[in-house]
Amino acid sequence: MAKKIYLNGQLVSREEARISVFDHGLLYGDGVFEGIRAYDGRVFRLSQHLDRLYESARAIALKIPLTKEEMEKAVIETLRANELKSGYVRLVVTRGEGDLGLDPRNCREPNVFIIADKIELYPEELYRKGLELVTVATKRNIPEAIDPRIKSLNYLNNILAKIEAGLQNMPEAVMLNKDGYVAECTGDNIFIVKDSVLVTPPFYVGVLAGITRETVMEIAREKMGLVVKEEVFTRFHLYNADECFLTGTAAEVIPVVRIDGRQIADGKPGKITNQLMKQFRELTKNEGVEVY
Ligand code: PMP
Repeated sequence: MAKKIYLNGQLVSREEARISVFDHGLLYGDGVFEGIRAYDGRVFRLSQHLDRLYESARAIALKIPLTKEEMEKAVIETLRANELKSGYVRLVVTRGEGDLGLDPRNCREPNVFIIADKIELYPEELYRKGLELVTVATKRNIPEAIDPRIKSLNYLNNILAKIEAGLQNMPEAVMLNKDGYVAECTGDNIFIVKDSVLVTPPFYVGVLAGITRETVMEIAREKMGLVVKEEVFTRFHLYNADECFLTGTAAEVIPVVRIDGRQIADGKPGKITNQLMKQFRELTKNEGVEVY
């Protein structure tokens, strides 16, 4: 359990880490966040996570009261204070305390907090056997309304999809965009492999610019010499894929073997997926900003 929480420049106890009920992050989901991993004393792709945080903040016209360098130090300080070498870091910036109206101009100062804790991993069995998915009726937010590239505190769109999957006793949902193209899962990006080519939906379909997505594309191209395409595809392509997998900071690379009751290929995690899983884990050991 997290012992020390970073809150607006100070490391405080869990009990002291309190935020006003008038914070617009709570009242309206008005804020941004990041989920970051540390592996054996190194923070994986920290600068990419910070770039995304600051871009999300800019997109919602929220000025983060720390420079990226200061934020990097705060993340490392929080990991050290919790004596964590490996773990998960949740970094949150809210619009801050305001009144009951929507207007962010009435919020004086953003609140910044960082929680570092042990990571709750998916059971190892799922990585060996693969995951089952179901497509749900809730469509991914349209980019013209709330761009899914903004990693905001408002996750209702994803939560609604997760509820639908849960009602069918499924661990995860595939979300389509309003035109019926595959977008992503509730907290992970999605890839298919067909004839040894990797395909993942482009940003304009309405997906988060996942750091793991980017890392996997890099591994596939540079270490495995594979072709990777960012192209739209439908459920038809999912059902007829040779392989399918999800990517995310918490999940890393996780195979998918069944979607909407259709078995994917032979129903076992694919060869390329297994190689990517291995290569990704290898990379997490060899790079990252040092904590100690
Ligand atoms: N899509 C959504 C909706 C997410 O919330 C996340 C992060 N949990 C991802 C994709 C994966 O992004 P990343 O690889 O940066 O964790």
